[in-house]
Amino acid sequence: MPDAMTPAAAPMLLRDGLVGGRRQDIAIRDGRIERVGAGLDATGHETLDVTDRLVLPGFVESHIHPDKAFIADRTQGLRAGGPTPQTLVAELKKRFTVEDVYQRARRVVELAVRHGCTTMRAHVEVDAFVELRGVEALRRLQADVAGALDLRLIAFAQEGIFHDAVTKSLLTEALKAGLETLGGCPYMDDDQRAHIDWFFETAQAFGVPLDFHADSADDPALLTTDYIAEQTLARGMQGRVTLGHLCMLDVLEPAHRARVIDRVREAGIHVISLPATELHVKGRADATRTWRGVTRIAELREAGINVSISTNNIVNPFTPYGHPDLLRQALVTAMAAHLGNLDQLAWLPELITTNPARALSLSGYGLAPGCHADLVVLDARDAAQAITEQAEKLYVIKGGRVVARTTRTTELSIDRRG
Ligand SMILES: [Zn+2]
Repeated sequence: MPDAMTPAAAPMLLRDGLVGGRRQDIAIRDGRIERVGAGLDATGHETLDVTDRLVLPGFVESHIHPDKAFIADRTQGLRAGGPTPQTLVAELKKRFTVEDVYQRARRVVELAVRHGCTTMRAHVEVDAFVELRGVEALRRLQADVAGALDLRLIAFAQEGIFHDAVTKSLLTEALKAGLETLGGCPYMDDDQRAHIDWFFETAQAFGVPLDFHADSADDPALLTTDYIAEQTLARGMQGRVTLGHLCMLDVLEPAHRARVIDRVREAGIHVISLPATELHVKGRADATRTWRGVTRIAELREAGINVSISTNNIVNPFTPYGHPDLLRQALVTAMAAHLGNLDQLAWLPELITTNPARALSLSGYGLAPGCHADLVVLDARDAAQAITEQAEKLYVIKGGRVVARTTRTTELSIDRRG
């Protein structure tokens, strides 16, 4: 939503875009979609010709780490027998300043907006190493970019909560400072259940939703998803809990996996898969059949669970080639998760639009009249072409205002005759 400093955008009409598979116009006024239909009257509207270009609601990054982006050049990265990415980043994090975090996170936001993102929920690490410097930087960024991006923040315990005496109180301070979600990481503590219990109790005390990095490993003995689902139900938090990773689902026996998926559905838990990071980090010590770690996206979706994908890491030891472009994540997902038939390519965009919007409880999201005018216009006729060709995002519109416009030109000279 535009902030008070942003001048009100003039009424706008997108002419002849492809909306829901049909050529239609979209009229926008006062930051909202006013009408959708063929041959709308453009009087009083500024017109954008988007003939036969695919129009989607703005992309939603639901799990991303701008505070530790663009630090790959400060480390050697992953190598056989070397430190984990968590260890490498923990060391670097001690020296993060507010300004350093702000500048790197701002670069993430600028790239994300240019690539069609209109809403982002970002993890902000809070611990003994970085204390609240990331919170300060991201809160400032949230205000500075409010007209172009709805930036929501998670107070995130990347280092666990039982290794020092300050992290728990820093997390509650971050919530008091206005962070909207509480984020846990059970596998960083020895007692995963005690970790999960503290997060549920604290989230309930503050009335905020929960997000866990969960079950990122491949040892079924460490599974926590079933316990998180049980707690979600017991505490009446259905629809307010999100789990990222869930790599472990892939290695469970099918009958066990089906039982866990049933509990996830019953608990109304949202799942976010992070394929680029899994492909980079997982299975590095496997002597045969290097496990790729991506969760069972199609199986979860078929079971009726709300599944999204997100970028996660950007140019750091977790994903040195990470880039905040959700259309790229759709292609990575298609390749990593066996999602290539025409039906699957047609629904993949839901994983970067309507599904994460639901996970974040966004209101007024979509292409219907009355929704926020948060849109992306792609240089493609359908989802399969957009993903396959990595189509350009011609226009990104936030709250009825064009916040990014990109054109690519190619001069092709093949046929020498004539
Ligand atoms: Zn993450």
